[in-house]
Amino acid sequence: MTDNIFLKIINKEIPAEILYEDDMAIAFNDISPEAPIHILVVPKKEIKKLSETSKQDQELLGHLLLVVNKITDKYQIEDFRIVVNNGTGAGQTVFHLHLHILAGRNFGWPPG
Ligand code: AMP
Repeated sequence: MTDNIFLKIINKEIPAEILYEDDMAIAFNDISPEAPIHILVVPKKEIKKLSETSKQDQELLGHLLLVVNKITDKYQIEDFRIVVNNGTGAGQTVFHLHLHILAGRNFGWPPG
């Protein structure tokens, strides 16, 4: 078994509140939400972080943003923030690429 928690969710080895899934991506509620709506969009391909992607991931990276659109359309979320933490210093704690969809409250700018 992998110690990558998101791969475990992808492989259905541990439970999650899955909101969307296709052959390239999965989306589920964050276990420790930072906003009333906090969803993670995760590629099924094992990629540690955004900076490790390359030209061959172009379709996948575009797909992840379109998955964001599908989810926000489905749940009628008009205003939202997308966050990708890249590296420990940026707040990344799970080293499998993921997009945070945050919504349901106001967000400050610049971010903390
Ligand atoms: P990051 O800090 O950008 O790496 O984000 C990792 C996110 O994964 C955090 O918001 C965690 O709350 C979330 N997380 C960790 N384990 C789980 C899990 N088992 N199910 C859902 N979300 C998780």
